[in-house]
Amino acid sequence: MTIGSHPQIPTPAHTQAESMLSRQFGRETVNYFSSSPLNRLSFLRTEHPFLSAAIRHPSTRFVLLKDLAPLTRSPSELYYARHSEVQKLVPDTIYDKSLEETMAEYDSRKTTAQLIFLGLDESRKQDGLVWKIYTGVPYFVLDVTPKGNEQQQSNANEVIGAMEEKGLTFFQSRVVMTFSADEAAIYAQSRALMDWNTRNSFCGTCGHPTLSANSGTKRVCPPTDAARIAEGKPAERPACNTRTTLSNLSFPRTDPTIIVAVLSADAKRILLGRSKRYPPNWYSTLAGFIEPAESVEDAVRREVWEEAGVTLSRVVIHSSQPWPYPANLMIGAVAQVSDPIHEAINLDHDPELEDAKWFDIEEIEEALRIGTSALGDKPSPEYKEGGLRLPPPTAIANQLIRAAVHMDLLAGDKNSKI
Ligand SMILES: [Zn+2]
Repeated sequence: MTIGSHPQIPTPAHTQAESMLSRQFGRETVNYFSSSPLNRLSFLRTEHPFLSAAIRHPSTRFVLLKDLAPLTRSPSELYYARHSEVQKLVPDTIYDKSLEETMAEYDSRKTTAQLIFLGLDESRKQDGLVWKIYTGVPYFVLDVTPKGNEQQQSNANEVIGAMEEKGLTFFQSRVVMTFSADEAAIYAQSRALMDWNTRNSFCGTCGHPTLSANSGTKRVCPPTDAARIAEGKPAERPACNTRTTLSNLSFPRTDPTIIVAVLSADAKRILLGRSKRYPPNWYSTLAGFIEPAESVEDAVRREVWEEAGVTLSRVVIHSSQPWPYPANLMIGAVAQVSDPIHEAINLDHDPELEDAKWFDIEEIEEALRIGTSALGDKPSPEYKEGGLRLPPPTAIANQLIRAAVHMDLLAGDKNSKI
């Protein structure tokens, strides 16, 4: 993992080999938060001997989150803790028992810090863990938020105190966009999975506490709870559907959303909108959730009509971006209106946007040059007050606007090395 001069946008995986598709469609646009350097090895998440070996291996590293804020050396660098630094919350024996044994002994009064296996960094083979044909440094994410029973809380406070003494900080920000591409992807996976676990500590079907399984990527509703005996009840809990039928409620979710740069019929203007929470002069692409039984293209057309009153013709899917706030997958599109009569803006259907406007390509090109920044930050010094402001290249909105401006509808940059 390296931090280069333009560290934030990941490199497409396909550039290692030429193919017919890359010749035809050019280079893939790869968005911030995607393309993790870790091999997730999802099929090993149930294999406790592997997880036990990973926990005990000296190379293993832990991303720490406190109320979802990542532990950092600086706003642009994560801190990776060693096992010895988090031993209070992660005993060596944590994966020694099988899930079946852990379920049979389940007692909701005994709580543990949430631990999630992220994957192996296979670029570091020399000092890494060797497991069957896989070699690399194992990564986990650990929740150090003081919560659960008293013991867990005091252990968490000890870990936090020791980290803060080292001068490390839990980086508080609504959206973190300052990490390198590799670290952003690791953080995105960490945050999204931790957030999902935190929100699902009770069963969505029967309301009883759940137990983490598959190294943090599934939650189960155990059939018994020893805590009930102390209340004078039988250990058996009431029947729950999640135990008898396949229920995807207990797996982490990804919520698909659409986001779209819209071209006018003459392809000389782009439709952008702004919400009330944006700073002055800031506009972005339109976006919204995909609803059940909608295609991506249906959702693009519906959202643009509902929010801006504009009727779309062709929709082209461009690229996608994981967005871990909390669990979205932004599916980016570029679309066009077929006739100027469909360009009339009407904000009265859905009051979501404060304003929507057609901007000339020239104005947008200038804003891409001098008017981009993260939402809370200032634009470049060349920015002139009153000019259009746009999201930064780490946001898919920026990539879609660029694609619409340059007509690279299927490729980020067709002329660059593929
Ligand atoms: Zn249940």
